[in-house]
Amino acid sequence: MELRLKKLILYRLIITTVTLLMGLFFQLEGISAFWGPYAFFYFLIFLVYGTTVIFALLIRKRKARDLTFLIYSQTTADALIITGIIYITAGSASVFTPLYILAILEAGVLLERKGGLMAASVCSIYYALLLGLEHYWVIPSLTPRLPYHNVVLLYTLFVYILAFYLSGYLTGYLAEEVRKSGKELTKSREDFSRLEAFNRDVIQSMQSGLLTVDRKGQISFLNKAGEKILDIRTSQIKDRPITDLFLDLNQDFQEGLRSRMETAFQRHDGEEIKLGLSISSLKDHRGNKVGQIITFQDLTLIKEMEESMRRSEKLATIGQLAAGIAHEIRNPLASISGAIQLLKEEKEEGESSQRLMEIILAESGRLNRLITDFLLYAQPPKLNKKKVDVGALVDNTLEVFSRSPQWTKGIKLTKIMEPNITISADPQQLEQVLWNLFINAVDAMEGKGVLEVKVHKDGKGQAVTLMVADTGKGISPKDINNIFDPFFTTKEGGSGLGLSIVHKIVEIHGGDIAVESRPDRGTTFILTFPTS
Ligand code: ADP
Repeated sequence: MELRLKKLILYRLIITTVTLLMGLFFQLEGISAFWGPYAFFYFLIFLVYGTTVIFALLIRKRKARDLTFLIYSQTTADALIITGIIYITAGSASVFTPLYILAILEAGVLLERKGGLMAASVCSIYYALLLGLEHYWVIPSLTPRLPYHNVVLLYTLFVYILAFYLSGYLTGYLAEEVRKSGKELTKSREDFSRLEAFNRDVIQSMQSGLLTVDRKGQISFLNKAGEKILDIRTSQIKDRPITDLFLDLNQDFQEGLRSRMETAFQRHDGEEIKLGLSISSLKDHRGNKVGQIITFQDLTLIKEMEESMRRSEKLATIGQLAAGIAHEIRNPLASISGAIQLLKEEKEEGESSQRLMEIILAESGRLNRLITDFLLYAQPPKLNKKKVDVGALVDNTLEVFSRSPQWTKGIKLTKIMEPNITISADPQQLEQVLWNLFINAVDAMEGKGVLEVKVHKDGKGQAVTLMVADTGKGISPKDINNIFDPFFTTKEGGSGLGLSIVHKIVEIHGGDIAVESRPDRGTTFILTFPTS
């Protein structure tokens, strides 16, 4: 409204100046037949300038409701001044009568139909009064009068009044229409930007990565989740071919013949992640294909879980089968060693027979230990859980271990233990876990190195981490996925059951085991147990 008001003030100044110039022109040319006193004319013109200035000053301070009143007053004042100009410029024959229409237009534009019709009424009344009063000599005529007949006068009045009302109505109507369509336009613009924001928010809040590719196969967009999964910024890959990002993207997938595939992705930090991709066509609102949408998820964790489940299932089946066989072997084995023991006690046999019998006894002892280990793995004894001080348990086990034949003098021991960490566990089984890990560490260091044991709580205090690290020969990448499998061993005479037992015990305690190893640098086993 204010802007329109300012524009109208400008037009009004222009029109007033044109009217002033017309007066000056008439005066200089000496046309005075239909022209009253020029001084009065100029007075009226400057009155318009004056009211314009006052009006301009007032609208600066007023609020919208006051503005309506201001416009009404302004229109009424304008109509009055115009009537004055018409009065001194030959009344019904004045060339300035159409100026009324300008005043009506002003009110119509600003106050719509109501304003236009009001201004038309004011102008009609002023004009009718002027012509009437002048015609019946109530007010003196300032110019020579034209001998108008009553009917002509009435006709002139009628035509003008009709023109006033028509202009008032039409301008008001048009002003209303413009406002309505302006409102509708703003509303649809708002709806549009709300919809746009909604789409953007949905895409950016998605947990899956979303990437769009244009018709040429170049990347055009990547959402926030995508940036996070791939550890990349959109600006780094925008307009680059999609195959730069996913190197092994196969042709079928790109052409949309296959909608899903799995691929590996090398992140900047060197980590390789597994991604599940799905592709669909990107179409515009007319249904024309404009590119492709690729959504993707990081499957690394799921794959790891799958691997761990697969391992557990495999172990469970093997365990059941073999436990049965182990029991069956144990009984005849006991009889064999008992019989040999008896034979050995009969001293008449020769020296070589004695030696052979010793071999049989030693080997059946080894076989028995293997079976014991195996049964421990396949059918671990019932859990006898207690509150265990992990630090104290580690200390005791290390104490015993460092005096056992497995220990080597060249090995240094480092212990970092937070005090008073307790978990609910079977202490004997936990000792077994430590023992097996220590044996492996010492074996891997081949007489020299550092064995490090660390016990601490995680940041939130919800888990206890037990770390056993060595500086031994490490595990080769091809073996690392198999070390927890029963009977997997790289050692001569190894049973391959140590880590399987560790895995089993940790598992039945509700814990987790992870391994990190670098060939020739060392191996770290990280065991996590829930706090009691
Ligand atoms: P075993 O010790 O009888 O071989 P395990 O199940 O304890 O059986 O270990 C399986 C295999 O894992 C070992 O043969 C070895 O190759 C590897 N391994 C386990 N711990 C370590 C370690 N700390 N450093 C290097 N290799 C290890």
